[in-house]
Amino acid sequence: MSRLRPDFTFLCYRDVSVEFLREQGIAFLLLDIDNTLAPYEQPDPDEHIRAWLSSLAAAGIRAAFLSNNHGERVTRFNSTLGLPVQCDARKPLAGRARQMLRALGGTKANSALMGDQIFTDVLCAHNCGIRAILVPPIKDRTDRLTRFKRYFERGPLRRYYKKYPDRPDIRVGSPLAGEHTEETV
Ligand SMILES: [Mg+2]
Repeated sequence: MSRLRPDFTFLCYRDVSVEFLREQGIAFLLLDIDNTLAPYEQPDPDEHIRAWLSSLAAAGIRAAFLSNNHGERVTRFNSTLGLPVQCDARKPLAGRARQMLRALGGTKANSALMGDQIFTDVLCAHNCGIRAILVPPIKDRTDRLTRFKRYFERGPLRRYYKKYPDRPDIRVGSPLAGEHTEETV
């Protein structure tokens, strides 16, 4: 298994349903925040995020935030949600992610990590031995480092779609991008 190849792709976090997670035996879901659930500049979770998280909680699926962003951002985002959090998570390193899983009681078999970056989120999941769910970034940055990373994400994605040609194709961009652009205009 390539460490960089996601296990699942979805066009949007909202498409990751309770039914899918149950089918896959995923009871613990570590979540990236930035560009996975909300763009960088959105400080608080919107109603869609709340509704989706409530559906997980109602089904007994434990969600937790695993973010490389600083404490202030993560704490503010989580202030009305009250989920377990790990800021400065140092993804793709496995150390803090593993620590979090252990604290939650998750195992390799019943846990997954969802994020928008192959070299951060997918790699971190596989370094921990858990499954990786990849979504397209809601609002991609256009700086050089990001473009550089996106370029190197093409190979693993090509291999993923060769193996799973019928899975949702995230290479075209996030359906949420327009939504958030309009909001900020
Ligand atoms: Mg992200």
